[in-house]
Amino acid sequence: MTLLTVKDLEVKFATAEGEITAVDKISFELEPGEVLGLVGESGSGKSVTARSLMRLNAGNTRYGEGSSMILRSGEEEVDILRLKTPKQLRKVRGDLVSMIFQEPMASFAPAITIGKQMTEQLMLHRKMTKSEARELSVDLLNRVGISEASKRFDQYAFELSGGMRQRAMIAMALSTKPKLLIADEPTTALDVTIQAQVIDLMKEIVAEFGMGIIFITHDLGVIAQTADRVAVMYLGKIIETGPVREVIRNPAHPYTQGLLNALPKLENLDAPLTPVPGDIPSPLERPSGCVFHTRCQRAIEGKCAQMVPPEVQVVAGHTSACFLSEERQGVAA
Ligand code: SF4
Repeated sequence: MTLLTVKDLEVKFATAEGEITAVDKISFELEPGEVLGLVGESGSGKSVTARSLMRLNAGNTRYGEGSSMILRSGEEEVDILRLKTPKQLRKVRGDLVSMIFQEPMASFAPAITIGKQMTEQLMLHRKMTKSEARELSVDLLNRVGISEASKRFDQYAFELSGGMRQRAMIAMALSTKPKLLIADEPTTALDVTIQAQVIDLMKEIVAEFGMGIIFITHDLGVIAQTADRVAVMYLGKIIETGPVREVIRNPAHPYTQGLLNALPKLENLDAPLTPVPGDIPSPLERPSGCVFHTRCQRAIEGKCAQMVPPEVQVVAGHTSACFLSEERQGVAA
């Protein structure tokens, strides 16, 4: 049974300059045990999408009337966007869904020990006794590779190294055995060796716990190592999606092609990197037609600035929203 079905998610923010669209009617699904990578530059809407899953966006947020985010757990089905009371929201936050952040200090209260934070969460969401919660927390700290786990349990986040803090945050996020784990740039601040360890650890977790993971990053290279499927976002839209290897070997959208060209090539490390030209436009100046046309070197005159490209099937399970893909393959059924 599909774990998560996001349909026509639209997220708008009220600002002093007017309402902006941060996420523009995106749809995707996630199966249990699957890792979905959400990739895009800053401002693409990937973090807003993730925060919507825990309803963590600020108070000036408005969700589209036709938007839904259905999360399934056993017989239970919850539309996250329709939750209202603090009790209903608590069921999602830290119970069905956990989140790990780029900066672990964002997860830990500085004046409370790591152990106390872990046990309080377990006592609240899993109704454990204090000693059961302590036992499980120390065990999980061990499992994520933290040496002297029972000593670390009584320490504060600032007393741990960056890599250790990241692992402690993963242990805390996993302790309640959520159905869905959201990892928002979890490896960006780490050095490469620790990054590889954290990625390996997350793969083990998926295999063992069978939870679904949404892995958010700006780095397609990291996604290639972690995700089963990828959705590439640009200015609030999913512009290409498919199995990760298929998309990386056969990118159909000029933006995805640009992101891949910007990665260093192992076979020629002296080759200059070619970043996608220009910057992502301000959401207050959302381009007409194809939202990527202001930066696209293959834009079709008289078409791309005027018309919104349809989602086109490149091969089964791989879609791209670009007129060039339409010319190649025909519109998706
Ligand atoms: Fe470029 Fe046009 Fe394709 Fe958009 S639809 S990515 S502007 S070619």
